[in-house]
Amino acid sequence: MIMTNNSEPKKILFGTNGVRGIIGEDMNPELVMKIGLSLGTMIQGRVALGRDTRTSGEALAAAMRSGLLASGCDVIDLGILPTPALQYLVREHYDGGAMITASHNPPDYNGVKVIEGDGTEMDDPRTIALESLIFSEDVRIADWKSVGKLTDESHLIEEYIRAIVSHFPPDCCKGMVVVVDPGSGPAAATTPEILRRMGCTVHTINGRFDGTFPGRLPEPSPEGLALLSETVVATKAAFGVAHDGDADRAVFVDERGTFMNENLTFAMLARAACRRNPGIVVTPVSTSDVIREVAADCGCTTTYTPVGSIHVARTMLKLIAAGERVAFGGEGNGGQIFPNHQFCRDGGMTAAAMAELVAGSTRSISTIADEIPPYTMVKEKIHSDDPAAILSKVRSACAELDLNETDGIHIRWDDAWALIRPSGTEPFIRLYAESRDPVRAEEVKTYLLSLL
Ligand code: MG
Repeated sequence: MIMTNNSEPKKILFGTNGVRGIIGEDMNPELVMKIGLSLGTMIQGRVALGRDTRTSGEALAAAMRSGLLASGCDVIDLGILPTPALQYLVREHYDGGAMITASHNPPDYNGVKVIEGDGTEMDDPRTIALESLIFSEDVRIADWKSVGKLTDESHLIEEYIRAIVSHFPPDCCKGMVVVVDPGSGPAAATTPEILRRMGCTVHTINGRFDGTFPGRLPEPSPEGLALLSETVVATKAAFGVAHDGDADRAVFVDERGTFMNENLTFAMLARAACRRNPGIVVTPVSTSDVIREVAADCGCTTTYTPVGSIHVARTMLKLIAAGERVAFGGEGNGGQIFPNHQFCRDGGMTAAAMAELVAGSTRSISTIADEIPPYTMVKEKIHSDDPAAILSKVRSACAELDLNETDGIHIRWDDAWALIRPSGTEPFIRLYAESRDPVRAEEVKTYLLSLL
């Protein structure tokens, strides 16, 4: 924990979604065992443990298991599974969870995501408390009578698969051909099976667990998905779906093999959710205005949060607790949250929802996508050692405009918006500008760059 100028404690080890590092450099079993001891000290209950397919996963999982058991927690080993599967099972059965994963990072990375008993990722105040235990080493070490017990319940992955399939009418996708690219990650055990049970004919590529990621990197980038695109075209599939390294995100290629922008697929799924069950759509301030527009077309409103899926999930829960109806949530990176399922991003659920949407239409996925209004978003990453000074410069230069400081500074014009946001961990400022008109988006970006 460090104190910033305004004396607010900040996270050091943990970023937006857990702690990550390079194996042999800043990520190792010693650190993970300390996290296990500290987490176990906080939870004092039954903790589920899962991992993705990285080569370092077994070593780090063993360290986490050791720390948790030594603190007196019982550990339930769920083996290799998607992060949302672990989150679902924690909410159903356990007091907390730890996922050994580096999500979309390259193969030499690994890390830990910490899950609360309600299945959501740990929030900032609790993460800061966890970090202070890690640094102070003021942890509970159980005596010989109270060390934890280890059990294997990896068969419970079946419960997660069934939970997703249960949200859709039986055989709603009968006969539809779909290609799945789990990228050698944990969704190889879930997404193809989910879609098959919904009636799809499923072809899988990169479908074997492999921490060397021989087919493509864990980030499902357009360049990495060339084989998925080719396979979709060759098999005349309705679409292709790919996951990141821990399958909380899902990205799509259309029936022509073209990569679909994640804000576009978010808009398609949000529109379907709003039509079926009108309510608020929750998303970070960095998301495309297309979400606001499709929600408004369905008579729904949009609530904005700071960047990070944890803020989206917790805002959805808060709104529901306050008696509001929440239709959908998500980020413009393929991370979608379905409030009828669970309050975290879920790549398997996202794939299933898209399958239902396409199977229920007489049109192709690209034709459905064409109904969504096009927006152009441009981004820039600017080096800065003093982000606060830049923010105050923007604040005074744009004082007459519509400003919102939920996270960074969000500026709204009639025909465009922009976001200037310091990175939480690096000396960078991120600049986003968006408009229906590509020229206008560039113009806004150029104007803001001139201010900086
Ligand atoms: Mg991920």
